[in-house]
Amino acid sequence: MAAFRLPRAKDLSVASSFSWITNACLRRSLSSTAVSEAAAAEVHPAPFSSSPPPSMKSFLVRRDPKERNVQWVFLGCPGVGKGTYSSRLCNLLGVPHIATGDLVREELSSSGPLSKELAEIVNQGKLVSDEIILNLLSQRLEAGEARGESGFILDGFPRTIRQAEILEDVTDIDLVVNLKLREDVLLEKCLGRRICSQCGGNFNVANIDVKGENGKPGMYMAPLLPPPHCTSKLITRSDDTEEVVKERLRIYYEMSQPVEEFYRSRGKLLEFDLPGGIPESWPKLLQALNLDDHDDKQSAAA
Ligand code: ADP
Repeated sequence: MAAFRLPRAKDLSVASSFSWITNACLRRSLSSTAVSEAAAAEVHPAPFSSSPPPSMKSFLVRRDPKERNVQWVFLGCPGVGKGTYSSRLCNLLGVPHIATGDLVREELSSSGPLSKELAEIVNQGKLVSDEIILNLLSQRLEAGEARGESGFILDGFPRTIRQAEILEDVTDIDLVVNLKLREDVLLEKCLGRRICSQCGGNFNVANIDVKGENGKPGMYMAPLLPPPHCTSKLITRSDDTEEVVKERLRIYYEMSQPVEEFYRSRGKLLEFDLPGGIPESWPKLLQALNLDDHDDKQSAAA
């Protein structure tokens, strides 16, 4: 059966040190108080409502975590920063960042047969059908498998219980990070998002400065401004309007929040409340994951 290939010889020392780090990290983080107390709870997996596409099953096989890179999932509301933090972790761990939102946007900007249908769904803030998402994800995994990829961080998948069941059916997810942020900030962050139409860089023009009140702490997040050569090329995602973001949040609570409980009951959920912007949150997230970012430290010391 086809599978994620083992790392090539030249990558082996890196890959094995990562599995050591991440296994240690998983042991530590799963025993920390940040993880759901349901870790020790009895697990009653829901029955499968359907089978995964055969192609997906052939690219993901269960393999001893010591012999592969991490297989993590990032959950969280629109605008919380799943893309920002999961792609940084992917760079650190040397695994691919697979964002189903990016797969959907690539497909809708192509002239493929699905593009019109997808544009309509996304611009209304609705979820794309499980079938379409599973097909896009299978194609992405197939392409990655051909390139010899091992491990992944999934960003924005699974988003329904059925997607979570199907993923559980085909492979083992080691850890699920649930990023959390107050809702008024989420809306502001989505409305401030900008993308450089040339280099694809992600920026945010929102200057979030919420005063603390009634015992609730305040929160400051500096804008993430583009370099001068990107400034004139910034675009806004067509689904980042106030009306659509509110609908995406509603759908998140209805369809995707149950996925948190799915993983909480399996003892895999790491809850992480973002304390502020990247400078405050990134080191704390690494600490919660028991990871070290040498590059970050070196650039801070320089
Ligand atoms: P968000 O900022 O809301 O987290 P994403 O970039 O992850 O946005 O996704 C953009 C859109 O792509 C979603 O609103 C939805 O229409 C579609 N989408 C992405 N991932 C999924 C998924 N796993 N299941 C269904 N639809 C998805």
